[in-house]
Amino acid sequence: MRVYNFSAGPSMLPEEVLKKVQAEFLDYNGSGMSVTEMSHRSKVFDEIHNQAIENFKELMGVPENYTVLFLQGGASTQFEAVPLNLLVKGKADYIVTGNFANKAYKEAQKYGDIVCAASSKDKNYTYIPQTSKKDFRDDIDYVHITTNNTIFGTVYNELPQTNATLVADMSSNILSVEYDVSKFGLIYAGAQKNIGPAGLTIVIIRNDLIGTAMEICPTMLNYETHAKNNSLYNTPPCFSIYVAGEVFKHLKSIGGVKAIHEVNVYKARLLYDYIDQSDFYFNPVEKPYRSIMNVPFVTPSTELDAQFVAEASKAGLVSLKGHRLVGGMRASIYNAMPVEGVKSLIEFMKKFELENK
Ligand SMILES: *Cc1c(COP(=O)(O)O)cnc(C)c1O
Repeated sequence: MRVYNFSAGPSMLPEEVLKKVQAEFLDYNGSGMSVTEMSHRSKVFDEIHNQAIENFKELMGVPENYTVLFLQGGASTQFEAVPLNLLVKGKADYIVTGNFANKAYKEAQKYGDIVCAASSKDKNYTYIPQTSKKDFRDDIDYVHITTNNTIFGTVYNELPQTNATLVADMSSNILSVEYDVSKFGLIYAGAQKNIGPAGLTIVIIRNDLIGTAMEICPTMLNYETHAKNNSLYNTPPCFSIYVAGEVFKHLKSIGGVKAIHEVNVYKARLLYDYIDQSDFYFNPVEKPYRSIMNVPFVTPSTELDAQFVAEASKAGLVSLKGHRLVGGMRASIYNAMPVEGVKSLIEFMKKFELENK
């Protein structure tokens, strides 16, 4: 039996995609072999690879003067790749809105003059700090933000105003809402939240930012290496790219990012509305900054939280345990979480509240 999996990542994939991948597993499109067995230099894989890039560009509305790279190493590797490639003047400002943002900030400090321009640490990252142009230094290479904070359940609804290049870690809300890519110099995301299986990391980079890496930048972390080779400098994560490509086709078939965003807003509203009208459950995030992807919540006690997670799991609602930095529960309701999954969670929450209040 398939469960509703509320994991923050790796997370659910559309069932239609899983079934298609299963059907094609032994013999991909008459090739007589599985994509897992195929040379990354073969014609068949080349088509899978290029089609995935094209469909991703179309879904995101990536402008002509940007390049999409399919990389490895997770979003965490981008924490170092970004400064190694983009620090030309040697300075960057970071906004620290959570654990991953802080990791990115700390990593960048190894390579340049890095300043934390704003942080929401004072209230355990339950909001997004408001900034204006004057909060950033004049002569910086970029401003780094995390658009959606996976652990704390916050999101930027308005991008910060800055004259500098904007760099975003979009790992947990890419393809869930429309973004104007031209507002960014670089966007990166690990695939395992809203794109496909783990192992693939996507970078969207404006072309003028390619080719400026520091001399010490390892070849494999240099965006120019991968841009020059259409992300085939070395063996890419072939199977993850193939499954991600199927997710892109599926997303296109249901109306693209705009359509899925409406569903995402609907799912999140159902859950937040239920939490807000209840005096048993509580979400700590300031309302304007609530994420539609990751919804943390608590019951009145840590004992009840543990009981909730255990009983929900038995009812087929799994991976609801909150991150250790926040505690309680967290429901990650990415693109592939069906509306029915959220409704089932709410039904369970109602029952649990009645039984334990
Ligand atoms: C999950 C996550 C990361 C870490 O991703 P890896 O692919 O595991 O390195 C970084 N940033 C954000 C916002 C995330 O959600």
